[in-house]
Amino acid sequence: MHESPATTASASNGHGLPALDGRRIDFMPGVRAALADAPLQRAVSLATLKKTDVRNASFAKLKNAEDIRTLAGLIKQHTLDHLDRYLEQFVAHFEKLGGVVHFAETAAEANAIICRIAQENGSKLCVKAKSMTTEETHLNAALEKIGVQTVETDLGEFIVQIDHDRPSHIVTPIIHKDRFTVARAMHRELGVPYTEDPTELTQHARVYLRDIFRRADLGVTGVNFAIAETGTICICTNEGNGRLCTTRPKVHVALMGIEKVIPRFSDLPVFLKMLARSSTGQPLTVYTSLINGPRRAFDRDGPEKLHVVIMDAGRTGILEQEEYREVLRCIRCGACLNGCPVYRKIGGHAYQSTYPGPIGKLVTPLLKGLEPYADLPQASSLCGVCKEVCPVRIDIPEILVKLRRDQVGRGIVSPLHRLAFRLAGWTFAKPWRYRLAQRFTRFFLNIHATGGYTSTLPVKSATKVRDMAVPPGPSFRQRWEAGLRDEAALDSDRSGQ
Ligand code: SF4
Repeated sequence: MHESPATTASASNGHGLPALDGRRIDFMPGVRAALADAPLQRAVSLATLKKTDVRNASFAKLKNAEDIRTLAGLIKQHTLDHLDRYLEQFVAHFEKLGGVVHFAETAAEANAIICRIAQENGSKLCVKAKSMTTEETHLNAALEKIGVQTVETDLGEFIVQIDHDRPSHIVTPIIHKDRFTVARAMHRELGVPYTEDPTELTQHARVYLRDIFRRADLGVTGVNFAIAETGTICICTNEGNGRLCTTRPKVHVALMGIEKVIPRFSDLPVFLKMLARSSTGQPLTVYTSLINGPRRAFDRDGPEKLHVVIMDAGRTGILEQEEYREVLRCIRCGACLNGCPVYRKIGGHAYQSTYPGPIGKLVTPLLKGLEPYADLPQASSLCGVCKEVCPVRIDIPEILVKLRRDQVGRGIVSPLHRLAFRLAGWTFAKPWRYRLAQRFTRFFLNIHATGGYTSTLPVKSATKVRDMAVPPGPSFRQRWEAGLRDEAALDSDRSGQ
């Protein structure tokens, strides 16, 4: 077996996202490439539709599901509104249990702290459970830089790593890949016999990772929920790799955003009921680990040292803006990605950010700046499916509109965009202008139409993927006015009788 495919993958992979140098990121090349990639769309579409179906079926079976969603949203909102208090409580209890707490203001600081812990403990081999926060900080590259081999142990993340790729979904990182790509990557990088059988492929990964777990001296995980009342950290996984990362190595470091705190232990079931159902339709994740401090004298396993790194990285900036605060309620379930028609069409890579899909369109510009990510809030039809499925009731469409408002206020819109909306505003301001525009539009569309539809408008993007229907005449206004005349005639008949 080859020695260290993961190391090479991670080092050469970097993080594969555009560098933020203040310029606006051009999303269109990635979007065009995704739209031209039929297998990608088929893979993403099939998987997300299936996930949405199982999510809906699972919620249908849950008694009082809508009330639990409301409660989950309220608990998260309450925690965010009093975050200083709950963070203090969590820190005090975590330390009392024997854990060490670190605060990081930025992603770079979080990486530096984890690297320092690794160096102080002489770590050489790190096993990582799936964590979006470590994706956000690009921790793998930082650890590799100081000579710590870092291996993803979630199967999807492991495949992403050996295939020199990036995750494209916050729960299902390889949603864009088929088993043939996985087969080629494993054969090439692990030196195992070529097979397209998913069970055999999983076994190959298992054998490889078992050996890595046995030798690992550092475990890194994220945190799903941090309980203020007890100092407990809760980690939810489906493959058992999280438990191996947190029990086998002598040092465990958990990285969490400041928003992961919940007040009481009794609040946890509310979120556990929501998280797995929204992600995969399961009533509960297969492994729900509750970690209460490092290994004690009577424990059979567990790390000798337990650290938690609590990271801000732009979150207090969101917290300070009351109208955007609810974005931090997100429990990273992925349901909004699965339901989103835009995500289904373009997949996750086209968003060019750690967090794709509807939640990414909010989190990325709010964390990293609206200027470089100005296209993201626009990449939505505002259909509202994301709001319908969100287990913590984040009003994603409403926040997208607010971000668009901010874009206009800060002049982050193209001159053409501004001109179009000025023209629309001018037209809607007077009824006669609106009527005139209506007549002109109908006349213009009719010139180009055949059978009530046109596909040859001068603005080509408007009819690129669909034909435009010519509005049927007479217009609603004309019918309404005619109706009023008829009613008036009817009234005068009645009064004459
Ligand atoms: S915004 Fe809501 S639906 Fe989307 S990932 Fe977060 S919790 Fe899930």
